[in-house]
Amino acid sequence: MKPAARMAELPPYLFLELDRLADSRRQLGRDVINLGVGDPDLATPEYVVAAMVEAVHRASNHRYPNYLGAKEFREAVARWYAKRFKVTVDASEQVVGLIGSKEGIAHLIWAMAGPGDVVLVPDPAYPVYQTQTVLAGAEVYRMPLIASRGFLPDLTAIPEHVWRKAKMLWLNYPNNPTGATAPREFLTEAVDLCRTHDVLLCHDNAYAEMTFDGYRAPSILEIPNALDVAVEFYSWSKPFNMTGWRVAAAVGNTVAVKALGLLKSHLDSGVFTAVQEAAIAALAGGPEAVFEQMNGVYARRRNVVVSGLRKAGLDLPTPKATFYLWFRVPEGMTSAEASKFFLESADTVVTPGSAYGQQGEGWLRIALTESEERLAQAVERMATALDARP
Ligand SMILES: *Cc1c(COP(=O)(O)O)cnc(C)c1O
Repeated sequence: MKPAARMAELPPYLFLELDRLADSRRQLGRDVINLGVGDPDLATPEYVVAAMVEAVHRASNHRYPNYLGAKEFREAVARWYAKRFKVTVDASEQVVGLIGSKEGIAHLIWAMAGPGDVVLVPDPAYPVYQTQTVLAGAEVYRMPLIASRGFLPDLTAIPEHVWRKAKMLWLNYPNNPTGATAPREFLTEAVDLCRTHDVLLCHDNAYAEMTFDGYRAPSILEIPNALDVAVEFYSWSKPFNMTGWRVAAAVGNTVAVKALGLLKSHLDSGVFTAVQEAAIAALAGGPEAVFEQMNGVYARRRNVVVSGLRKAGLDLPTPKATFYLWFRVPEGMTSAEASKFFLESADTVVTPGSAYGQQGEGWLRIALTESEERLAQAVERMATALDARP
């Protein structure tokens, strides 16, 4: 028996592979520090857990959820966008609930692009934009994110014939894996170009709340006329330490939200209503204090790793957002070699940048998802390993 031919297009999911490598080290009795996958190590805030406990006891919540998200959930998202971003959206037409943004991103691509269409995808990037485009039979056009341009794609370099076939353009700021942020002028340029070429601008705002040193990330929907062409993914996963709960929303352009909702109504049956209630409570219960506390933790961790690895001779930035550090490999190694080197000689999992696209070659990514003590330990081991290099 053989899986469908389209499955041959799919590489193994990166983090499954890294987990497997880390596990094989652990089986050798090694104490492995995993700075690979971007999965918060801290607990969901207690007030959110309490709301979930209450909601899960209510029998009415045990039935199939509303496919597109409960009215109360969609209204809570609309209220949050008004409060947080000063953006007005229609809760019934411009918001759809998602079983995590990964699900929504994948399905929006299926809803909007197919054979003969082009999808503009950053390189490096979260792998889902590319893999789902390929699966859906559309063509990927890579937009390089390079350090000298602040990891912003050069949208003016996209040829006219590519724009003509393009259906969607993906952006993600604050950015995974580079930690870059986008100035408002860049977002404005993206909205204007997408309006000119009738392309859906898809903004993955998974790290909207994970910012430091006074920086505050915008929504793409704050840009004038953005609702004409833009849809944004807002996720509870990272800001509320809720990756396991699977809840997010797509917000914005009516055509995109409707197409995604229609496709999803044929695929899944929505987010567990109790989880939606907990998500509403998360937004209503003073999340600003939660974000501030979490961001304090990540900023301290960032500082520990940045200063430690700089002392060890690596060139690291001080990102204003995300819990990622994106930095050049030690001299004379590829990304894959460097990742293997740190796993084998420092028992530390560091993601090879090449896993995020061709432009990621020569880079590594660290996720700040361990305690300060563990991070300090990882840094020390990495420094020792680098020192001992022939
Ligand atoms: C973590 C992450 C997501 C996934 O978010 P979920 O809502 O948990 O599915 C989406 N996009 C990027 C860039 C991420 O880093």
